[in-house]
Amino acid sequence: MKPKSVIVIGAGIGGIAAAIHLARNGLKVTVFEKNPRPGGRCNRFSRDGHHFDSGPTLLIMPLLYEAEFTALGASLHDMLDLQRVDPTYHLIFDDGQHLDLTSDMKCMQEQLEAFEPGSFSSFRRYMDEGHRNYDLGVEKLVNHDFRTPADFFSLSNLPLLIQMKPLVNHYENMSAYFHHPRLKAAFTFQDVYMGLSPFEAPATFSMMSYTELAHGVWYPKGGMYSIVDALMELACRAGVEFHFGTTVDRIKINGNQANGVVLTDGRQIQSDVVLANADLPYVYKYLLPHDGESKRLAQKKYSCSVISFFWGVDKSYEQLSPHTLFLSDDYRENFESIIRDLNLPVNPCLYVHAPARLDPSMAPDGQDTLIAIVPVGHLSEKEPQDWVEIRDCARQEVFWRLRALGITDLEAHLKFEVNYTPLSWLKRYNLIKGSTHGLSHNLNQLGYFRPHNRHSKYHNLYFVGASTHPGTGIPTALVSGRLAAQRIMDDLHSLN
Ligand SMILES: Cc1cc2nc3c(=O)[nH]c(=O)nc-3n(C[C@H](O)[C@H](O)[C@H](O)COP(=O)(O)OP(=O)(O)OC[C@H]3O[C@@H](n4cnc5c(N)ncnc54)[C@H](O)[C@@H]3O)c2cc1C
Repeated sequence: MKPKSVIVIGAGIGGIAAAIHLARNGLKVTVFEKNPRPGGRCNRFSRDGHHFDSGPTLLIMPLLYEAEFTALGASLHDMLDLQRVDPTYHLIFDDGQHLDLTSDMKCMQEQLEAFEPGSFSSFRRYMDEGHRNYDLGVEKLVNHDFRTPADFFSLSNLPLLIQMKPLVNHYENMSAYFHHPRLKAAFTFQDVYMGLSPFEAPATFSMMSYTELAHGVWYPKGGMYSIVDALMELACRAGVEFHFGTTVDRIKINGNQANGVVLTDGRQIQSDVVLANADLPYVYKYLLPHDGESKRLAQKKYSCSVISFFWGVDKSYEQLSPHTLFLSDDYRENFESIIRDLNLPVNPCLYVHAPARLDPSMAPDGQDTLIAIVPVGHLSEKEPQDWVEIRDCARQEVFWRLRALGITDLEAHLKFEVNYTPLSWLKRYNLIKGSTHGLSHNLNQLGYFRPHNRHSKYHNLYFVGASTHPGTGIPTALVSGRLAAQRIMDDLHSLN
C-alpha cells in the first residue's frame, strides 16, 4: 500500500522532531521551510571566524533531551559532545554585588549566607519545592497529551492544585523562603524563558531553577546549533525530504479536511496530513481560512520579545563568564515595562553570553564572540514603537553594565555588529507580535487551555511547536514533536 503522506510546514525543532517520528513510522514526510536552513529560532550564523547561536544559548532540562533522543532512536551523548556549565550563571546586581549559581553546595552556602543569614536552608527548601514541581510538571503537564477535557480535569489531577502551586504567584511565593529582593530575583528570573513575568507566573516554575542546578546547564561543542545538526542527521537517516527557501502561502482546505498546501510560487502539493510547525497564531492568521479563531488568538497573552546583539570583537574578555546575567534592583519595574508597557525598561535586566569561554573555536584566536540579549516588550498594534531608538538605548545599557566587570573599551574593539529586534523575529520566523516564545505560559494558556496539537475542525491538520502544547523551549519542542506525531499515528490507525 502507498504510505500516507505528511507535509510539515517549517523546519523548527518541533517540526524536525515530528518529521523523524513520522518517517520512522513509515510515513512519507516532506518539510517546507521558508528560510535557507533548518532550525527555526534555534539558528546560527558565522562571520569572519566568529560563530553565533542566534536564538537559544542554554541547554537546560537535559533529562528531557535524553528521553527525546532515545524516543528518536538515538543517544543524546553519542550525537552531541556536551559539557556542563558550572557555575551556570554569574549574576551581577546594580552595585556590582555578585552571586554565582552553582551546584557546589558549599560555595552556594557561603554566598547565600553572606546575602542573608539563614538563607541557605531556605534555598534547600526552595530546591525541594522545585524538585517536586519538576517531577510532577514533567510527568503530568509536559509529557501528557490533553486530548479531551477529562485528561486534564480529572480527579487524580486535583491534588496538583495544592502540590504544584499553580494558583500561587511565583514572586510572592519567594517570601516563604527569602527576604532579600536580590535572592528573590536570583531564583525567579528564569520565568522570562517562558516569556513571563515572575509577578504573574505560577509558583510551579520553581522547577526551572531546580533543574538548572540539579541537572545542570549544558553546552554542546560547536554551539546550540549542533542540536539541529544532530536532528537533521536523524531526519535524513529516516528519509525525510526537505525543501528550503520554500514558503507555504496557504493550507488547502476542502470541507473538514486539509488536503495539502499551496506554495508562494503557486505550486500545489497534496498530502494526507498537514502538520504546521510555523507559529500557531500565524498559521491561523495567514495560512487558514478566517473563521474568527485568529481574532480570538490575537486577544491572548503573548510572551515578551528580545533585542539581541551579536558582536565580533578583536580582543578576548576573559573576565566574562559563559553566561553573565545583570539583574536590576528595579526588578518589578522591569517586568511592568516589558509586559504591560511593551517597552525597554529604564534599568533593564540583561544577559551576556561568551561562547568562546566554553568552546574556543567559536571565535578566532585571541578574539571574542559576544551575544547580548535584552528582554523587551513585543510589537504593539496600539502604540508606536521606535525600534531603532529602543535598540540603540539597549546597546548603551549593555556597554554601561559591562563596566561593572571592568570592560570599558568594548565599543572600540567591535569588528562588527549584527542585531535582531522584535521586527526581525517577526520577519525571520513569522512570529506573531515578534514574541520570541510565542503564546505566553500563564495559567489559562497552559495544559488543556493551550492550543491543542490537532485542529478542532480540520481533523487531519496538526500543530507542533512553541505556541502549542507543551510550550516554549527546545526540549519541550522535542516533546511537542513526539506528541503531535503520536496523535497523527493514532488517528491514522483508527481510520484503518
Ligand atoms: C532569543 C531566544 C532565546 C532562546 N533561548 C532558549 C534557550 O536558551 N534554551 C531553550 O531551550 N530554548 C530557548 N529559546 C526557545 C526555543 O528556541 C524555541 O522554543 C524553539 O526553538 C521553538 O521551536 P519550534 O518547534 O516552535 O519552531 P520555530 O523555531 O518557531 O520554527 C518554525 C519554522 O517555521 C518556519 N515557517 C514559518 N512560516 C512558514 C511558512 N509560511 N512556510 C514555511 N516555513 C515557515 C520558520 O521559518 C521556522 O523555521 C529561545 C528562543 C529565542 C528566540
